[in-house]
Amino acid sequence: MTSAETVIIGGGISGLACARHLHDAGAPFLLITDQLGGRLALSEDGHYLGAVMMNNDYVHVKPHAGKAFKSVPWRSYIWDGSKGVNSVLRMLSPEVFRLGKVFGEFNRAYSRFRSEAPYVCQKTLMERDPLLRKLVSQSAQEFVKEHKIESITGRFLGPVAGAIFLGDWRQMNAFHFCAGISCLGNGSINADWTGTVESLTRGYTDKIIMDKVTSIDAPDENGFYQVKCEGRRVRAKTIVLSVPGDAGDKLLGVNGSAKREACHVFHIEGKRRALYRPGASLIMDPDEEILLFFPLPDAVEVVYSRSAEPDFSRYYEDYTIIAQHFWQPAIQLSRGEWRPLQRESNFFTIGDYNVCGLEDSYLTGLFAANKILAQGRERKL
Ligand SMILES: Cc1cc2nc3c(=O)[nH]c(=O)nc-3n(C[C@H](O)[C@H](O)[C@H](O)COP(=O)(O)OP(=O)(O)OC[C@H]3O[C@@H](n4cnc5c(N)ncnc54)[C@H](O)[C@@H]3O)c2cc1C
Repeated sequence: MTSAETVIIGGGISGLACARHLHDAGAPFLLITDQLGGRLALSEDGHYLGAVMMNNDYVHVKPHAGKAFKSVPWRSYIWDGSKGVNSVLRMLSPEVFRLGKVFGEFNRAYSRFRSEAPYVCQKTLMERDPLLRKLVSQSAQEFVKEHKIESITGRFLGPVAGAIFLGDWRQMNAFHFCAGISCLGNGSINADWTGTVESLTRGYTDKIIMDKVTSIDAPDENGFYQVKCEGRRVRAKTIVLSVPGDAGDKLLGVNGSAKREACHVFHIEGKRRALYRPGASLIMDPDEEILLFFPLPDAVEVVYSRSAEPDFSRYYEDYTIIAQHFWQPAIQLSRGEWRPLQRESNFFTIGDYNVCGLEDSYLTGLFAANKILAQGRERKL
């Protein structure tokens, strides 16, 4: 059986961030994963299957990604129940002048949260900050009412938050609502992930084991966890579990309380019907089977859908499905209960259990790596 000081399970952005940081610091580890990149996946012909957007405040993710192309805000539309209306028109409301004040406070608290997240557990940071603590327990609908932004939310902010988290803003808590639309103030780009896995794994590919973990046994009398995979067993002093919600809960034997949105992603080549704004991005109603149409610079567009078999003929004059992927979960929105990232002194659960998105997931990987390095230094003293 192979032995390792640390085993990272899962090769998405959070696990890769942890591995990148441990490797750069010269610390020993193995990374076991059944796939590399996780929800950064691209199809064989290089189109997005998972994450697309990189916000300007993604300071840790940015060095590992490129800029793909710019979306044009005035070429995006929001469905009003019978037609797609230009999103700039949907934004027009006297309430727009108050948004800076309403969201400024959140943005400052969120950026403080992120600056401390490499060293302090997300849950501790959230509980420590009165505003973030309040927003996590408040519903988005209550928040909108409290700040008297009902009109612009119904017309514009709500659909945007829904498109970002592939769900219905009315089901979110105020934290996710604010985090989702923070990209409007900070700006975001369509990222190029083609070199991201290579950038995050450079120099340690010999430490990556491609396998699926099936169970993790409690530590033995020598303090080693036993990781059982389909093809081998590995002993480790420290575990970093960085797999998505359902897979993580199964390995931990717990039931998560987070709201997990599933999503079907399709790559379509075809001609959208005039009513559905061909060539432009179109955010649909949360009650529709299709959530979002997102055209790419070539002839392909990405379509996000709740349904496995949406009625494409309703939206397209003609179409070909060139790729499809099902994510379960795609997006995980924690409710009031946030998870500690360090369950035991030598057991970390990282990823998007608390905060969904690439930058916050990356930060959880950095947190685990920093703790492991600090523990190593303590042992040496
Ligand atoms: C369709 C979609 C669009 C999104 N859009 C954006 C966006 O535009 N911007 C943004 O910031 N975020 C976006 N997100 C969210 C973002 O992608 C995630 O929050 C983030 O990628 C989570 O990273 P992770 O490392 O925690 O998990 P993952 O990326 O899911 O990685 C988990 C890894 O664990 C592996 N694994 C699972 N089970 C096992 C097992 N038993 N044994 C071994 N390995 C295992 C998986 O193969 C995978 O490699 C989107 C997500 C989806 C699905």
